Amino acid sequence: MCKLCEKKPVYEFTNKRKLCARCFVNYFQKKFLYTLRKFNMIKQGEVIGYKKTNDFKGVVLEYLLKMANEKSNFTLVKLPNKTDKIAIDSSLDSESENIVTSIIKENASGLKEELPVGEKIIKPLYLFLDEEILLYARLKKLGFSRDIKKRKDKIENFIDGLEKKHPEVKRAVVNSLLEIYKKI
Ligand SMILES: [Zn+2]
Repeated sequence: MCKLCEKKPVYEFTNKRKLCARCFVNYFQKKFLYTLRKFNMIKQGEVIGYKKTNDFKGVVLEYLLKMANEKSNFTLVKLPNKTDKIAIDSSLDSESENIVTSIIKENASGLKEELPVGEKIIKPLYLFLDEEILLYARLKKLGFSRDIKKRKDKIENFIDGLEKKHPEVKRAVVNSLLEIYKKI
């Protein structure tokens, strides 16, 4: 049952905590806004651009940026347009994959690109798994195209296999990178 309200759960976290549809949507939206604040992604008055796409990550990013935009003082525009920063739909899955790829290829300078905020780039979905983003899109009935899913490459399959055996490994990979950069 849902940890908060005893309703039928739609999602179970690796620590066995379960949430119903309404509580999951609340959790997701709060965490999105928390991510923006924690990494100081958007400053007052900035122009934030995003690319309009039809896949589930793109529609969730657009939906939540619009929600954040109602509450705070920044300008949201579709690309191409002049912007201070660009929000991209990178998630825990894509980031952990890129980190591991950079390590395997010994491309240390590539690792910096996997941080939540770059000079011109912000990643508001940085702390979410793809499966969480997909569930949010479904629960909010956001229309998205299903056929964009690319074929998984070797490293992606390798990390997905690891995640099955060691839940939270994607989060652990991303957290390790954040720790390293905190010390520099
Ligand atoms: Zn609930």
